[in-house]
Amino acid sequence: MIGEGVRWAVPCDACGGTAENSGGAGVYAGRIEWSIEMDCPACGPRLTECGSGSEWLPAELRARLLAECGPARLLLPGPDVPSVALMKVLRSATGCDLPSARAAAERVRRGEWTGILAEVELLAEQLRAAGIEATARAASEASEASEGS
Ligand SMILES: [Zn+2]
Repeated sequence: MIGEGVRWAVPCDACGGTAENSGGAGVYAGRIEWSIEMDCPACGPRLTECGSGSEWLPAELRARLLAECGPARLLLPGPDVPSVALMKVLRSATGCDLPSARAAAERVRRGEWTGILAEVELLAEQLRAAGIEATARAASEASEASEGS
């Protein structure tokens, strides 16, 4: 499973002490799977929320992943990827109409398609299934590459 996780402090709703949430999202069996677990030093760990499907990904978890891990980027193998195939995958992945798919395809080509790693990886998987060797690059990998030394 390709994914990433974050931790943040929360008040424990059982004892009122300071607990720690750990949340993560990844791609498993063609879907985004996510979970948030609370670990209280007094009450122990427990699962707070979990689910699958990007439409149910909690906005707070997504925002924390984007803020702490940085946006992942979708990379195409080269400029000669056929537009029709690219747009077809984008349409089925996002449910958008044809003009939006054309705009989305342009964003992908310019390297401007970003999101949390699980979202980008899922789209990359769908593109690979359609024969386009797309990859998801995590923000951490991108900064290492550009810093060089
Ligand atoms: Zn507690």
